[in-house]
Amino acid sequence: MSITITSTKNNHTPTTKDVECNCLDYSEDGKTPEMDCPFCDGTGIEQVSNRIQMNMSNGNAITILNMVVPKKVAQDRYYGEISNKEIPDAIRRIMFLLNTNKDVQANIRKDDFETDKRMLSFGIDEEYIRDRLTTFLEILKYAQKHNENVYWS
Ligand SMILES: [Zn+2]
Repeated sequence: MSITITSTKNNHTPTTKDVECNCLDYSEDGKTPEMDCPFCDGTGIEQVSNRIQMNMSNGNAITILNMVVPKKVAQDRYYGEISNKEIPDAIRRIMFLLNTNKDVQANIRKDDFETDKRMLSFGIDEEYIRDRLTTFLEILKYAQKHNENVYWS
């Protein structure tokens, strides 16, 4: 139940690069992959996205997206796209949000609930919002520079 925000080329092909898997570091000789490693399936090579992306729980993603592109979120909360042409507006909106306090504070939410073992928090605090808006800004700037769109799903 999470939403990822990232940039994409127009054909939506995810772009990945191959990197050495961390499990190699834990093997005795430093070069034998873990047979049942969930990251590389025992190959020693992990495919990771080479773009900036951020992943959030649905609730938090919708809160952040709603601050930046409310009209799009009203159309569809779980999937949407900010086209290259629309990126400058989204960037201006985030700059505004990062320079004001009222709008950020209006979105702070404390959703804690207790299970028998521990306290779980699904809330969202000011630091989290500012941190996510900053990463969102980086994604938008990357897409702008590379003539790409930004989408979430
Ligand atoms: Zn591995």
